[in-house]
Amino acid sequence: MDLNGNLEVNIDDLSKLAFKGFMADEEAGRLYELAKDAARFGPCLEIGSYCGRSAAYLGTGCREAGGVLFSVDHHQGSEEQQPGQEYYDPDLLDPATGRINTFPLFCRTILELSLQDTVIPIVARSEVVARFWQTPLSLIFIDGGHAFETVFSDYSAWVSHLKPGGYLIIHDIFPDPAKGGQAPYCVYNMALASGLFFELPMVQTLGVLQRAPAGSLTDESKTRWGRLQT
Ligand code: MG
Repeated sequence: MDLNGNLEVNIDDLSKLAFKGFMADEEAGRLYELAKDAARFGPCLEIGSYCGRSAAYLGTGCREAGGVLFSVDHHQGSEEQQPGQEYYDPDLLDPATGRINTFPLFCRTILELSLQDTVIPIVARSEVVARFWQTPLSLIFIDGGHAFETVFSDYSAWVSHLKPGGYLIIHDIFPDPAKGGQAPYCVYNMALASGLFFELPMVQTLGVLQRAPAGSLTDESKTRWGRLQT
């Protein structure tokens, strides 16, 4: 029970609920675990809220750790969710404007789960928010648009805000091009090649990296740059 007398939903309850979204149960469960761990050290942030499925899991982990989740999305749907595209959902079309609007359903999800004191929506393009952002983050989850320039822009705009030891999580990693688009995988590899991250086990298509503590070298860093050190 929260301060307003609403029932708090736990991870077992969540797995019984139906959400709109594109994420396997095992991936969602991992998001919950990572958020619960990270949120003790600072706010978490996700890029790509859609209708709130991942925010439900990340947010439940944050609430249990006494933390918060900022959830950034312009809520007008990504490239592949527009009318006529592969992931178009007519339920999300606002008849008044003729455009996609995922914000009402996102708000409903957060209210139904009593997460309104934990999940803080930010309705804007992520690079605009990042330009004015100053708070160090303990977890960044990238799951916005899947065009290369969008994933790369989300990564490069936010990565400097991740605390040492924090998690960088990227969804829709497909090493096999026949199984899915390559932009998230490409950006995942760029992050790894920077030498700033340790690679943690992947869960289906959920790539999980951990920012190296200040002053430590990852294996990637040693391999690539080791010869330059004296
Ligand atoms: Mg995704």
